[in-house]
Amino acid sequence: MTSANILLVEDEPAIQELLAFNVAQCGYRAIQAFDVASAQTEINRALPDLILLDWMLPGVSGVEFAQRLRADSRTRDIPIIMLTARTDERDKIQGLEAGADDYITKPFSPRELMARIRAVLRRRAPQMTDDLVCAEGIELSPTTHRVSAKGMSIELGPTEFRLLHFFMTHAERVYSRTQLLDQVWGDHVFVEERTIDVHIRRLRQALEPSSTDNLIQTVRGSGYRFSKE
Ligand code: CA
Repeated sequence: MTSANILLVEDEPAIQELLAFNVAQCGYRAIQAFDVASAQTEINRALPDLILLDWMLPGVSGVEFAQRLRADSRTRDIPIIMLTARTDERDKIQGLEAGADDYITKPFSPRELMARIRAVLRRRAPQMTDDLVCAEGIELSPTTHRVSAKGMSIELGPTEFRLLHFFMTHAERVYSRTQLLDQVWGDHVFVEERTIDVHIRRLRQALEPSSTDNLIQTVRGSGYRFSKE
């Protein structure tokens, strides 16, 4: 499967290294940022699948940054786990109100941190987990990379596989080409939007023999959607 990109925003080098080491050990890709400005640069380049965000940062605080991310439609859905040295219950509530999905107090054990990351990804970014996905007669296994539709085995290229995985875990919602580039390619700058149409066409062709190609719907003027309606 595609490994999740985890953006680490932490100014203390020792903790930053500890986080990067543990994230990599779990098979995720660590992207390191020591302040909000460089975190923003990384996000502009490609959307991460999850952000580990320290509360106390030089300049803009983690809480402020979380609020900013939640206010922007492009970054609104990125799962955020706040890291903090504070144990005050009010701080925890403030962090969650700012838009964090979870909250972890320093010092933390790597095991606890990884369990939290997995839980948040499972809840907020199911396309980044290994869970078997079944929907509308299609079964997709991220571990074996196999897809079957109505009992027929389906051969997909890596991009079509990721695209189908994303659609199946985000059924009924309409995604624009820009959003799909962000979510599936993780990069909205260097890929042309019409590339998406090519992969959609290939995906439909692969699904056609099982008559499930009509699940990949074009929503005129908006983008694409996975739906049986
Ligand atoms: Ca700090």
